[in-house]
Order: sequence, then structure tokens, then C-alpha cells
Amino acid sequence: MADLGNPQNTIEILKKYEFSFQKKYGQNFLIDTHVLDKIIRAAEISSDDFVLEIGPGIGTMTQYLAEAAREVAVVEIDDKLIPILEETLKEYENVTIIHGDILKVDIEGLVQEKNQGRPVKVVANLPYYITTPIIMGLLEGSAPVDSITVMVQKEVADRMKVGPGTKDYGALSLAVQYYARPEIVANVPPNCFIPRPKVGSAVIRLTRHQTPPVQVQDEDFLFRIIRASFNQRRKTLVNSLNNSPELQLTKEQVTKALEQMGLPAAVRGETLTLEQFAELTELLQ
Ligand code: SAM
Repeated sequence: MADLGNPQNTIEILKKYEFSFQKKYGQNFLIDTHVLDKIIRAAEISSDDFVLEIGPGIGTMTQYLAEAAREVAVVEIDDKLIPILEETLKEYENVTIIHGDILKVDIEGLVQEKNQGRPVKVVANLPYYITTPIIMGLLEGSAPVDSITVMVQKEVADRMKVGPGTKDYGALSLAVQYYARPEIVANVPPNCFIPRPKVGSAVIRLTRHQTPPVQVQDEDFLFRIIRASFNQRRKTLVNSLNNSPELQLTKEQVTKALEQMGLPAAVRGETLTLEQFAELTELLQ
């Protein structure tokens, strides 16, 4: 099968199947061999690995993954793409095509079946409309995940990577950094895709921590505090936490905890580090 990273080959396949792009599925197919090589390199795939690819499209990146990994499973929602994948991937005996919605697939069961429960590497050019639920589902879920190397909107990659005091810093930054070490691998312009997305993209690799960088008694309480702190960005932390229906905290309780931490009563959530959020959680527990 011809290399689909070559735009000519992609166009030929799309024509042959009279494929029309579905906006609702976030379909922007990669047509740049350099970017594909970079993703595969960043994911550090070896011939012993089991890889899960989310949204294979016509199978462009899958061909690269199948060459590098022991076994690959792809999950594609669009039924029109299934016969195309069956053709473009027919030479690869190590690829399993699953027709379904990634948010509903039993990833833990899949990893158990294909990799005897050993950690999977996830690689994808993600559909942008569900980037956050996919990534948070993988980080919070019960399936063992070694790393996640994905193409996302540039702005979302920045939000995952940044620390306190920047405008992009928020609940997503803290949640991602609690579970993993983020690293931006490449910035990718719109002309590397067909059709071209309206925004710039970036490849980000999230390497899962063996143990989280902070320890708290109640993870769920930590994340409720984080979410509440960024719900109303312009409010002080005391007001945001006091106003949250997810928490039952008085202004006095929060003020006292901040005082114990040596922080001013008017502090905003966007200035706190993950370590400080963990300390605050323990004090408010
Ligand atoms: N991997 C291909 C590439 O790089 O050329 C396609 C990437 S495209 C950005 C996203 C793909 O995810 C599309 O094929 C789309 O149909 C698929 N997709 C969208 N929503 C999905 C879902 N909930 N579950 C599985 N696949 C989905």
C-alpha cells in the first residue's frame, strides 16, 4: 500500500470512495510525512509495544504505527471510514479495527486482551471537539496507560503545559500535571492537514507519573477545589470556593487555611501551584 502521508495518495483514496468529510467528527487528515515521523519518534514505539490509536481516519498514521509496534488497535466512529481502513491496512496483520466511539470503548478490557494488562501507548491526531474528555478519560480511567502522544489544538497544548501566573493556566493544566509530565513535541501549521483546520495545532506527549507529584487523602476533593477555583477566574479564591455548590466551605474556613499557608486573603486561584492546591486541600479536609 502506498504511503498515505503523501497527499496525492490520500486524495486518490478519498476520490475512490467518494468520501466527504464530516465536520461533526473533527476530521482533518494528516498529509505530511515529516510530522508523521516526528509523532512516531516522540511516542518512542518499540517492536514490543501495544498501541491504541484514536480516530485513524483513512489509516495514514496507522501504517506508520503498524510498522513500528508489535500490535495496534484503532477506534474509529465514522462507518464510512471502516471499508477504507480495511483496504489501506489490509497488509498489516498486527492491526485491529474497532468501529465505535472512543468515549464508550472498554479500554481496560482491550489492554487486558491485547497486552495482558501491561501499559498501552496511546497515539492520535485527536478530533478537536472532544480532546479534553478523551485525555481526562485516559488519565483518570482504570486502563494502564504509559504515555499519550497526541495532536491537539495549539491553544489546548499550551493549557496543558503552563504553570501559574499565565492566562492559559487552569483546571486542565493542573489535572494533566497531576497525572503526567507534558512536553510539546512540535507545532504543526494548518497546511499539514486536509481539510485545513482554522487553528494551529501542536503535538504533545504526556508521560504518566509512576506516583503523582503531590499526595492528598482525597483526590476527588482536590479536583473539586481546583475546578471551583477556576470557575470564576476574576473572583478571589475565598469567594470562588465559598460560592461553589460542589463544596460546603465558609469564607472563614478558607481564609484561615490561606493564612496557615502564608497566603493573602485576596489571593486568586490562578497563582497557586499544584503543591499549594494539595496543601490547601489537606487543610480544608
Ligand atoms: N488519524 C487521522 C489522520 O491523522 O489523518 C484522522 C484524524 S482526524 C483529526 C480525527 C478522527 O477521529 C476522524 O477520523 C474522526 O472520524 C474520528 N473520530 C471523531 N470522533 C470520534 C470518536 N468519538 N471515537 C472515535 N473516533 C472518532
